[in-house]
Amino acid sequence: MKVGLLAVQGSFREHGQAFARLGVETLAVRRPAELDACDALVLPGGESTTIIKLLRIFELLDPIRARIAAGLPVLGTCAGMILLADRILGGTSDQETIGGLDVTVRRNAFGRQVDSFEEDLDFQGLSDPVHAVFIRAPWVEEAGPGVEILAESAGRIVAARQGKLMATSFHPEMGSDERVHDYFLRLIKS
Ligand code: GLN
Repeated sequence: MKVGLLAVQGSFREHGQAFARLGVETLAVRRPAELDACDALVLPGGESTTIIKLLRIFELLDPIRARIAAGLPVLGTCAGMILLADRILGGTSDQETIGGLDVTVRRNAFGRQVDSFEEDLDFQGLSDPVHAVFIRAPWVEEAGPGVEILAESAGRIVAARQGKLMATSFHPEMGSDERVHDYFLRLIKS
């Protein structure tokens, strides 16, 4: 099995290190042919407005949408959560997303005062809390009926899953806890 890491911008390398610690091979995805070679895809944190523009330039946007429609498992973290959401609030006027996950996401939701913070969060299906790093993070403002909530912070949804699509507001690739990546691997295989 090969997990693709969207590698146009953002913290894709750290995701690669997390999967390597779990013994899973990853592949940087910058071209449609690289996407074709993947069994799953990670949309990393970074800057969602930049990533979506680069996806158009690299001619990856429509191929990724087509693979998602065909059942590709995807993990989106932070900016990646924004990209995976069907609807966005607080984006730039023309900001589009890849879509797939039936949620409305609010970009930069936690506000300037608390741009970045860390918190230990209960995570559905994991026995011990996850140490979550939030960096100008979005939250899920509204989730469709098929979406399972995996974690909340201050009553806001910060991790969710629908079928094989999974998103976190925080950065599970930071630090040395691979349980969110392992959760995603189990989702891929399920
Ligand atoms: N605020 C960023 C955005 O809108 C996301 C931040 C992140 O990925 N750490 O894309």
